[in-house]
Amino acid sequence: MPYIQFLGAAGTVTGSKHLINANDDTTGRTGMQFLIDCGIFQGPKEWRERNWQHTPVPAREIDAVVLTHAHLDHTGWIPRLVKEGFRGPIYCTSATAELCAILLPDSGHLQEEDAAFHNKRKSSKHDPALPLYTFAEAQQCLQYFKPVEFGQEKELGPGLRFQFFRASHILGSSMVRVTMNGAAPQRTMIFTGDIGRVRDTTIAPGRVVHSGPAEMEDADVLVMESTYGNREHPTTDPRPELARLVTQTVRRGGTVIVPAFAVERTQKLLFMLKELMEAGQIPRVPVHTDSPMAIQAVQIFLKHAEEFSPETKDLIAKYGSPLTWQGFYFDTTPAESKKINDSQYPQIVVSSSGMATGGRVQHHLLQRLPDPKNLVLFIGFQAQGTRGEQIKSGAKVVKIFGEEVQVRAQVAALEQFSDHADTRELLEWLRTFHNPPKQTYLVHGEAQAAATLKSAMEAALHWKVDVAQYLQKVDV
Ligand SMILES: [Zn+2]
Repeated sequence: MPYIQFLGAAGTVTGSKHLINANDDTTGRTGMQFLIDCGIFQGPKEWRERNWQHTPVPAREIDAVVLTHAHLDHTGWIPRLVKEGFRGPIYCTSATAELCAILLPDSGHLQEEDAAFHNKRKSSKHDPALPLYTFAEAQQCLQYFKPVEFGQEKELGPGLRFQFFRASHILGSSMVRVTMNGAAPQRTMIFTGDIGRVRDTTIAPGRVVHSGPAEMEDADVLVMESTYGNREHPTTDPRPELARLVTQTVRRGGTVIVPAFAVERTQKLLFMLKELMEAGQIPRVPVHTDSPMAIQAVQIFLKHAEEFSPETKDLIAKYGSPLTWQGFYFDTTPAESKKINDSQYPQIVVSSSGMATGGRVQHHLLQRLPDPKNLVLFIGFQAQGTRGEQIKSGAKVVKIFGEEVQVRAQVAALEQFSDHADTRELLEWLRTFHNPPKQTYLVHGEAQAAATLKSAMEAALHWKVDVAQYLQKVDV
């Protein structure tokens, strides 16, 4: 029997990685093996340690990878997979391929920076601390990327096809429909990846990409995300609250630190800050985007106008490229990053990673968390056990680079920026299915969120729903 094995994002929101073995007993043919997504685990040590484990089938025996979108929790393990022997094609949309071409080397770069930092401080129990992969290794894996456009049917192997359709989560994000029609009866599987907000822009202000995933789906097996399976997003406009938070911080002479994914989420925020400055609703203070790929991120963002919402198009038409705005700085070198740390004047710093699990934002937090003048502002989901979640949920002390850091800065969150559909929106999309899938597996959600969504789907739709377990194999 063909099967799916959940190698990640089961009981957690990171490490998305689903192995499909298209084994066909009726012909005795050994099936193709491929991965849907190849994400890195983030958060608690027990999960991060999984990044150092081998795949249950040898990497060199995996024939292909199909990616839903560029976020590292869906792509960040690719360089490791290649390092372990994978040599097949990596299929994704062209925007995802372009984003990965900067995100993966950046991830390697940051892992090297972190390892070097630990080695200098002797703050890791590993001697020497090693990066999971390097900048150069991440660059080498880019040769395997093969862009496939939305809607195009692509053959993976004999009797095995897939197609991307829009998930409206971030630039280039897609769902994957896999069709198997070997000797066995045809089966269709949909892997949602992360699902964007529904099509009402008034309740998802500042949306960058199209709203709402495609409609009228059909699948025998649905593997879907459940990040916000137990939560509803606020429906208020975040701008007044953002203006109030920034203004207060600047008045008391503090710095605003925003941990954010470098592409799209960051640009969304930059446009909002620009708009508020032009309207005189926040003071004109320097805005730093601190990332080795800060400039490329803006360029890729501006290039993909075909995916923008009307609101985003209007903002770009009005204000042009953020790279030309006065008072907005794009800091790519470590020296520039360090200079931000040295400044004692009010400023806004946007830096990744979004859950403060790695990257340059750690240095800013290390320096700014102990001072009550400063503000840490979260605009994205904070997974359990991540540093971001600890700070957001009121921890008084967090560990950064092995050092205990007092949290005295103000902490706030604006959930409206979310790029994930909430429970109500997920159910709205599911109601557009022609027929209920024979089986639905919930992935990419913490235990409580997945369990709550399962109950909600059973009650509202009467579908057969299970929560996927780590390393569980299910027949399809
Ligand atoms: Zn995502």
